[in-house]
Amino acid sequence: MKYVLVTGGVVSGLGKGVTASSIGVILKSCGLRVTSIKIDPYLNTDAGTMSPFEHGEVFVLDDGGEVDLDLGNYERFLDIVLTRDNNITTGKIYQSVINKERKGDYLGRTVQVVPHITDAIQEWIERVAMIPVDGKEGPADVCVIELGGTIGDIESMPFIEALGQFSYRVGAGNFCLIHVSLVPVLNVVGEQKTKPTQHSVRGLRSLGLMPNILACRSTTELDENVKAKISQFCHVPEENIISLYDVSNIWHVPLLLKDQMAHNAILKVLHLQGVAREPVLEEWTARAKLCDMLHEPVRIAMVGKYTGLSDSYLSVLKALLHACVAWRRKLIVDWVLSTDLEEATAKENPDAYSEAWNLLKGADGVLVPGGFGDRGVQGKMLAAKYARENGIPFFGICLGMQIAVIEFAQSVLGLHDANSIEFDPNTRRPCVIFMPEVSKTHMGGTMRLGSRKTYFQVADCISAKLYGNKGFIEERHRHRYEVNPDIVPQLEDAGLLFTGKDESGQRMEIVELANHPFFVGVQFHPEFKSRPGKPSALFLGLIAAACGQLDAFLKKRVIKSNAISNGTATLKPHHYANGAEKTPNWSALGVVCSNGNGVHC
Ligand code: GLN
Repeated sequence: MKYVLVTGGVVSGLGKGVTASSIGVILKSCGLRVTSIKIDPYLNTDAGTMSPFEHGEVFVLDDGGEVDLDLGNYERFLDIVLTRDNNITTGKIYQSVINKERKGDYLGRTVQVVPHITDAIQEWIERVAMIPVDGKEGPADVCVIELGGTIGDIESMPFIEALGQFSYRVGAGNFCLIHVSLVPVLNVVGEQKTKPTQHSVRGLRSLGLMPNILACRSTTELDENVKAKISQFCHVPEENIISLYDVSNIWHVPLLLKDQMAHNAILKVLHLQGVAREPVLEEWTARAKLCDMLHEPVRIAMVGKYTGLSDSYLSVLKALLHACVAWRRKLIVDWVLSTDLEEATAKENPDAYSEAWNLLKGADGVLVPGGFGDRGVQGKMLAAKYARENGIPFFGICLGMQIAVIEFAQSVLGLHDANSIEFDPNTRRPCVIFMPEVSKTHMGGTMRLGSRKTYFQVADCISAKLYGNKGFIEERHRHRYEVNPDIVPQLEDAGLLFTGKDESGQRMEIVELANHPFFVGVQFHPEFKSRPGKPSALFLGLIAAACGQLDAFLKKRVIKSNAISNGTATLKPHHYANGAEKTPNWSALGVVCSNGNGVHC
């Protein structure tokens, strides 16, 4: 096993995660099998109990792990499926050492940070690096490890010490350290400044870690003399200094690395030159360029709680983007603060109220993402009602599905007091109820989590067709509450159809409104399995509906899935030489990919 460690210096928020994922992409494109580990030096056991509005979204894995959003970047960029153990936290390491201490594994000895915590970190890395994540047998060739935080943080010290020992233990030729740093330009002088990078590398060295490669983030390409200066002061060869300047979309980052021969630098350090082939990144190049060329807009109103951190809904945004690229549309997300749609805002802040409603009314599609708690729930229901009554494509994810069901029960069934136990524990009309198996006393890791099966109840519904008419699908979950099965017959009689259920038939997974262009709610989170080039089926459906193309698309898909079962479907290449296509290329869009949840484009 070869290891690539990615550390960050100077400031946080440099795009270390995207850099590390892109390094994985170029190594993969050289024919190597790649896995990854993210180290988060916080004390939480996992990201599950952390607020997405402070820390970014909680990403959910197949095995139910609630992890840092960077693991989502790895899964999307490398098209791999990670496990909860691929996210190491201080909490997990200490917990494992303390458990061992209680079992008596260290009998007689004093348990210390060095060597016990540092050994536990190294053992964890070696064990997890061996887990296959790409569907093939046997371990990967290279493990990319990203150390969260910035060099010098107190809480990352045990990890730095462990990684220093680790690099020595695995030996030169098996370990490559890439340090991501910042080269700022001071406005007054307009000059690229190397001092922050020099200090950061000095800090790294003083902790026993020697960088092999420096990835320098800057607004514009690094000047040659700046590279020379960094090389001289940081003792890193010039060809190992990569200029990661700002690009129009993140799919350019692997291309930047390749253009600057970063793969050669890494392969040389890892003694892999003889094994690897020249990188092939045609698909990435095509996608990065296509994304830049998209101009015909599709407007999606995202109705939720916001604090200005778009990372809170990162995977949903990525899934929308993947679908928009497939439809050759430029994604415009209109953020609608759900509380602004409520009557109370009309009085308190009429400008915000009318702006929120204008955005909603101007949208081609409405999306209500997942969420927790009762704040803004009224506004979300008003958005669902508006989309339902006006034939606007609507997609509700998890909480978004639950509020759509409650709104329907209130408005259409006339059950004015219908509610969720989550919003009113004493409600007399529980339309959404607490799931029996979920703990009421512990928060961390106790929800219904991870990959679960959904069985389609009928073939003739939008979601079954979008998923390519399979009997069942597997998507990731993260919820405590569910639609009350007792109220389902009433809802179905009124036209709200539960087209997907779990294996028991008692748990509602997909809901669709009859006689509406696209009104779909799902209890699961399809955004977590969307990939560039393989958009999630339901996001593809939302964007198709928002572009007025869904009916035609579904007809083609029925023909296509028949063709697939006859073995006659072919995937033809795209032609985008003349700019964005107005009509999608059916042949390239219509084949269900092997994991069953996406569609190649
Ligand atoms: N709060 C809801 C539940 O726990 C929805 C969760 C979500 O949207 N992820 O069931």
